Amino acid sequence: MQIDISSLETLLQQADKLVLVGHFNPDGDALGSVTAAYHYLKGRGKHPRIILPSPYPDNMAFLEPEDPRDRMMICENELDDTRRAVAEADAIICLDLNRLARTEYLEDDILAAPGKKVLIDHHIPAELDRFDVAISTTGVSSTCELLFWILMALPDVAGDPQRISARCAESLYVGMMTDTNNFSNSVLPGTFEMASKLIARGVDKNGLQEKVLSCYSVSRTRLMGHMIKDKMKVLPAYKTAYMLLSNKEKARYNFKPGDSEGFVNLPLAISSVQVSALFTENFDSKYIRVSLRSKGQIDVNRFATQFFNGGGHHNAAGGRLYMPLEAVPAYFEQSLATWAKEEKFL
Ligand code: 5GP
Ligand code: MN
Repeated sequence: MQIDISSLETLLQQADKLVLVGHFNPDGDALGSVTAAYHYLKGRGKHPRIILPSPYPDNMAFLEPEDPRDRMMICENELDDTRRAVAEADAIICLDLNRLARTEYLEDDILAAPGKKVLIDHHIPAELDRFDVAISTTGVSSTCELLFWILMALPDVAGDPQRISARCAESLYVGMMTDTNNFSNSVLPGTFEMASKLIARGVDKNGLQEKVLSCYSVSRTRLMGHMIKDKMKVLPAYKTAYMLLSNKEKARYNFKPGDSEGFVNLPLAISSVQVSALFTENFDSKYIRVSLRSKGQIDVNRFATQFFNGGGHHNAAGGRLYMPLEAVPAYFEQSLATWAKEEKFL
C-alpha cells in the first residue's frame, strides 16, 4: 500500500503533547489503535495521552499503558480533564472514527482546539476536510492494519517490524483480530501479510486469542443461548433475522459491557439469512443501540445511515434508535421493507 507519509512525519516532528482519541463504546480496533499509537509515540520520546468517550470492556484492560500516569482517560468519568487535554495538545489524532460526532462529547472541543488534527481511519470517509492530515482508506481490514502500514512507512521504523515495541505489536494484532472477527470478515492479502510480520515479530497469537475471544462468563454464554433460542426472529421473505436484548434480560444474565459482542453475527450462520440485526436497550434507556450485519453485496452502511442514525461499513454497521424497545420491531420491519425494495436484494 502506498501511503503519503511525509505530512504526518512533519507534524509528528513538531508535536510533543498528543492526544489519541477513539470512538464511543470503544471496540478492539479502537482500543488497539489508540494504544498502539501511544506505544509508538512514547518510544519516540513524545507525551501522548489516550482519550475514550466511554469505558472499555474488562477483557481489554491488559491493553492499558503500564505507567499509571498514562492510564486511558474516559470522558464519562473525567470530562473536564479530557477537554483540557484536547485543548492543550499540540496534535489530536483521531483513530477508528469517520465523524467527530463519534467522540460523543468532544466534537466541539476538537474543532476549537489549536492543535493539529489527524485522522487515521478505515470507514467510508465523511469529514476529511476537518483534519490537517487525513489517512483514510476502506482498503484495509481495520484501523490497526492501516496504522501498522503507516508505522512501517515512517522513517524511524523503515519497514522493519522489529523496530516497533512488543506492546505496540500486540495492540495492532488485537485490533485487526477483533475487527476481522478473527480472520473471517474484511480480510485482504495485506491483512495476512501484517499478521505474518507481527507473529514473526513475536506476537503471541494464541495467547491473545484466548485473552480477548475466550474471556466470557457462564451467564454470558447462557444469555447467548437464550437470544438464539427464544429471541431470534427470522423473516424468510426478507432473508433477515433480528433480536432484541432488553434491560430486564441484561439484569437476569448479569450483563457486563462487551457481553453482547458477536451476538449479531450468529444468525448469519444460517444459509438463508443475509441480513442480521441486534437491538440493545441501554440501562439509562436514552436510546436503543443498533447493530447490523450483512453478507456479500448487501450494503448495511446505507441501511444504518438512512434508518438508524448511524453508519459504518458495507457489511457491518450500527446506529441508534430513540424509541422504546417495544416499538422497535414495527419500525425495523417497516424500514426493512422500504430498504429491501431500494436495495433490490430480494
Ligand atoms: P457494532 O455493531 O459492532 O457496534 O458496529 C459495527 C460498525 O458499525 C462499527 O465498526 C462502526 O463502524 C459502525 N457503528 C456502530 N455504531 C455506530 C454509530 O452509532 N454511528 C456510526 N456512524 N457508526 C456506527
Ligand atoms: Mn474498526
